[in-house]
Amino acid sequence: MTDSLDHEIKTLRSLLDASAQAVVFTGAGISTESGIPDFRSPGGIWTKFKPIQFDEFMASEEARREYWRRHFSLRGELGKAEPNRGHRAVTHLVRREKVSHVITQNIDGLHQNAGVPADKVIELHGNATYAECLDCGAHHELDHVRAVFEAEEAPPTCDYCGGIVKLATISFGQAMPEDQMARAEQATLAADLFIVLGSSLVVFPAAGFPMLAKRNGATLVIVNREATDLDEIADVVINGELGTTLGAATGVN
Ligand code: NAD
Ligand code: ZN
Repeated sequence: MTDSLDHEIKTLRSLLDASAQAVVFTGAGISTESGIPDFRSPGGIWTKFKPIQFDEFMASEEARREYWRRHFSLRGELGKAEPNRGHRAVTHLVRREKVSHVITQNIDGLHQNAGVPADKVIELHGNATYAECLDCGAHHELDHVRAVFEAEEAPPTCDYCGGIVKLATISFGQAMPEDQMARAEQATLAADLFIVLGSSLVVFPAAGFPMLAKRNGATLVIVNREATDLDEIADVVINGELGTTLGAATGVN
């Protein structure tokens, strides 16, 4: 570890010690060490496929078929991923009651798997570990959806009401979940320290939360292996790998 990284980690530790209530905000970067590729790094999902927009998904059965085909062939691995040291460090901070909430853009459920209580995780973009009916809201397990999809070669519909079934994620062009947005705003406004972990901060409205925290007087810390779009408004920017950096800052292995 370089001397400057070592110094920045000490700064993060003192900021945590001094904070009465911190919020952690995570992006795809916290899960890359669990083997889930992020969006924008080389080789990331976006460099291969253009995402299917919500209106295309709703309008066309072929788009829905393509959506499920991609999900099961490319992202089947999501279900097998395990939390890493970065997730464990975040859980430690929640258990110590330093961190009130984890606002995440991730859809992998790994904060909950790492032991953060579900009511402290705010999922801005939903969750890809299960599916939901867009009409009646019924929960559908992916193993079941996959079995039906493979047997019938048709996009799944709801067993209860016949509605369209989709991953419980927010697609491009789909409305943000109002309840999660409201909870994220409340948590952000109550925080004196706001720590961004592994987000390029280019996706809005999610990236509005660090801006709101800063405007509201919180100290803004950004940890990322490379520059982000909001580095210039941050109080502290730490360029390092998340597992090592957070592990060192919290004493978690
Ligand atoms: P992003 O891909 O735009 O940015 C990730 C950032 O993390 C990059 O700047 C990258 O340099 C950094 N990074 C990656 N691995 C790192 C590591 N080990 N240590 C330090 N930094 C690291 O991701 P985003 O900002 O979250 O936005 C992308 C969107 O993609 C989000 O809306 C999210 O919903 C979705 N997404 C989620 C997952 C997931 O759930 N795991 C995966 C891919 C994309
Ligand atoms: Zn239904």
